[in-house]
Amino acid sequence: MSTFGFTTNILHSDRRLGTESGAVHKPMHPSAQYAFGQAEELVAVFQGRPGFSYARQGTPTTAALEAKITQMEQGTGTVSFATGMAALAAVFMTLLKQGDHVISSQYIFGNTNSLLGTLQNMGVAVTLVDATDLEQVKKARRPETRMVFVESLANPGTFVADLEGIGKWCADEGLLYVLDNTLTTPYLCTGKAMGAGLVVNSLSKHIGGHANALGGAVTDTGLFDWSTYPNIADAYRSGKSGGWGLTQVKKKGLRDMGGTLSSDAAHRIAVGAETLALRMQRACDNAMALATALSNHAKVSRVTYPGLAAHPQHERATRLFGGRYGALMAVELDDSIDLFGFLNRLRVLVLATHVGDNRSLVLPVAHTIYYEMGPVLRAQMGIADNQLRISVGVEDIDDLIADFTQALG
Ligand SMILES: *Cc1c(COP(=O)(O)O)cnc(C)c1O
Repeated sequence: MSTFGFTTNILHSDRRLGTESGAVHKPMHPSAQYAFGQAEELVAVFQGRPGFSYARQGTPTTAALEAKITQMEQGTGTVSFATGMAALAAVFMTLLKQGDHVISSQYIFGNTNSLLGTLQNMGVAVTLVDATDLEQVKKARRPETRMVFVESLANPGTFVADLEGIGKWCADEGLLYVLDNTLTTPYLCTGKAMGAGLVVNSLSKHIGGHANALGGAVTDTGLFDWSTYPNIADAYRSGKSGGWGLTQVKKKGLRDMGGTLSSDAAHRIAVGAETLALRMQRACDNAMALATALSNHAKVSRVTYPGLAAHPQHERATRLFGGRYGALMAVELDDSIDLFGFLNRLRVLVLATHVGDNRSLVLPVAHTIYYEMGPVLRAQMGIADNQLRISVGVEDIDDLIADFTQALG
């Protein structure tokens, strides 16, 4: 399989599991339950043989999408979820226990930050660190540290953590390294190349790409030795230890917590994923051109984009992401510009939350996604009051630059 390239694999990997009546798209399976001709088969599936029993634990449609994600991340297996947050919740809730400790980057998605707060209420300690600096991560280590959590590209500040350095250190320490790869996608870097044991992708973003379906995925890279992980329940400590972690995430995350991806959404995401490389390359090219244009504009006081030489982790991003820098940037306008007036004058960029759509989206972050957090935490996370988050789409670049220029006025 690995002899094929990224897009060839995405396009053809699900057919390798076998087609149904020759259909090139995996059909959408709406059945809630799956029947068996023989009692022995029914029992075998309940006792761990791959197969389908009740759709809360997946369908052939979600399995086909999972095969594509596994290929993209070059992993050993994937479990899909209803949303990216459901995938993250499943990882944290099924693999951590009261008394455990998590080291997390402080530059993370706001909802994930809120989820870590819920974990703390349940007795899991969390230390937030500046993960762009490996020393800060190391300093947070405790005897009860179980997991290190980092995002590949932080939203909206575009900080790039020391992804590889953290991977090497986690390997030395025997720690589980969980990487949220949503904003780079496996097109820019795989979790495996960074040394992560588990990779989380929100499929609602670039992988689906068309903002017409929500989904999430957890992929095992095969790098982590689950036989050393103390929180695996006895029921899942059978067979090869490589599968233990993902089995527990699937059983407890889907069966017990029920955040299952629908067949309809799995189909839409699978169709979107076919063009991930094309869309992502175009969005990265557009973002680079827009960031360059804006950074030279007199009415823009600051552009934070990893592709710009002035970005504090520009060299690291270049090395890790193959000369592509993602579609996300943070922009601060000159104080003379009325923020809401500017936003209301935009004609192409869409005023909306969400990232990784084909359309370019713009959001004033302090007033919206980071509002609940309050000014102190915002300052700590480097979020200015006049900061805009821009998720660059695949429009014609001249139209994007012209829209910004006219709205700056
Ligand atoms: C959007 C996002 C999520 C959550 O994904 P949903 O599918 O919206 O639940 C998680 N992590 C990152 C980095 C995101 O951008």
